[in-house]
Amino acid sequence: MAKTIDAGVCVGCGSCAGACPVEAIVQDGDKYKVTADKCVDCGACESACPVSAIS
Ligand code: SF4
Ligand code: SF4
Repeated sequence: MAKTIDAGVCVGCGSCAGACPVEAIVQDGDKYKVTADKCVDCGACESACPVSAIS
């Protein structure tokens, strides 16, 4: 199950993209999004997000 980013909560800091070991998180306008078929569900992005936008 891939992680998802709640765009309404995300503040666009980019911490999650830097934490992802498989480069599954990409910028989408002023927010970020998870490329579901690349995500290996490691949880690193969730830990890196300062506003708990990822679940
Ligand atoms: S759970 Fe892991 S692999 Fe999936 S987007 Fe987050 S950091 Fe990347
Ligand atoms: S770490 Fe959280 S707030 Fe920052 S870009 Fe990722 S989802 Fe958005």
